[in-house]
Amino acid sequence: MPIKLGNVTAAPGQIKYGEAPWVEHPVGGHDTLPVIIAQGDPRGPVFWVTAGIHGPEHAGIQVIHQLVTKALVKQLHGTVIALPALNPAGLRTTQRQAYYHDGDPNRLWPNGKPTPEKPDPDEDPPSALEQAYGRLFAAIREHGGCLADLHNAWTGSVSFVFRDRVFYRNDGDAAARKRERAAAEKVDQQMAAMIAAYGHASVQEMPAKKYLARKLERSTTAAAGNLLRLPALTMELGTGHMPDPAIVRASAAGLRNILRWAEMLPGEMEPITGIAVPNAGFPCRRLGTPRTTAPCVVHHLLQPGDLVHKGQPVAEVRDIWGRPTAEKVLTSAYDGWIIARSHGIIYYPGAEVYGMAVRDPLPPVQPYPKDYFK
Ligand SMILES: [Zn+2]
Repeated sequence: MPIKLGNVTAAPGQIKYGEAPWVEHPVGGHDTLPVIIAQGDPRGPVFWVTAGIHGPEHAGIQVIHQLVTKALVKQLHGTVIALPALNPAGLRTTQRQAYYHDGDPNRLWPNGKPTPEKPDPDEDPPSALEQAYGRLFAAIREHGGCLADLHNAWTGSVSFVFRDRVFYRNDGDAAARKRERAAAEKVDQQMAAMIAAYGHASVQEMPAKKYLARKLERSTTAAAGNLLRLPALTMELGTGHMPDPAIVRASAAGLRNILRWAEMLPGEMEPITGIAVPNAGFPCRRLGTPRTTAPCVVHHLLQPGDLVHKGQPVAEVRDIWGRPTAEKVLTSAYDGWIIARSHGIIYYPGAEVYGMAVRDPLPPVQPYPKDYFK
């Protein structure tokens, strides 16, 4: 059976374009999900590349346009399924959310919890958008492979990969627990290999408790990694509303390198050039730091990609007249590197001055909390 999604059916040696049903509008008409299926030798694996789940994040769309070419298909062992507009309403209105679902669309993928027998009348039922992601998730489950979900972080941020934490169920018998843990460790190792092939900087997601509290396990990549055990990465491609052509080029090259890692493309890995690839020499996680302690105007002393050592001055803090506040300078409490400056320079107390990559001593693979599936 050829791979099919919506009205697009894969054909060897061809790029096919079309769409899948998405969300129907109450005023007539509907949103559709744009679909591109590029197939070389159909006996090879599947690679999913998705973009545009957050409406102001546009670099991934350009990356898909650069990646999916006739030249790629000629050499391709397998099938690339590219979905450039995972949130058509958000992209149309340049908003992070779809106007018909109140909440982050990248927290709507399945989490493996059983559907309650009786719906809770005080809870909203799954929205039309959540149902659409559920249907797409079933298609991802059917065809398998690996997945790259393309995003943008902050204005001027470094191009980097978010590596999800991987969870396993620890509530079965000993054999089941062992099997679950081995499967989680395997997908985590595959993700590490994908990151090495991609060749951009990488950062671990936040610690497990915060990660789950923010429903990050319901992101595109976490759902693929945890429920389907597909290696899946979130690529953060710098500025979203004005993509940096160097990052777009380096991301397309990095994705081709992932295809080489997956044995879907022949040839040597391409060098990743034209972008900063900071590396602290130890695994890092994201953290907003340092924080302001008084109302102030911040003069950042560092740029995205700069390495930082503990105690280093990272920003001057002044009042609106330009006089140093009591603190004068903010210093870093961590070794690591700068992912991005926070947007703006005028802050109330408690604001994060930088997005930083700091040492991550926490395990990348761990059991779900005891009550997670209750
Ligand atoms: Zn995003």
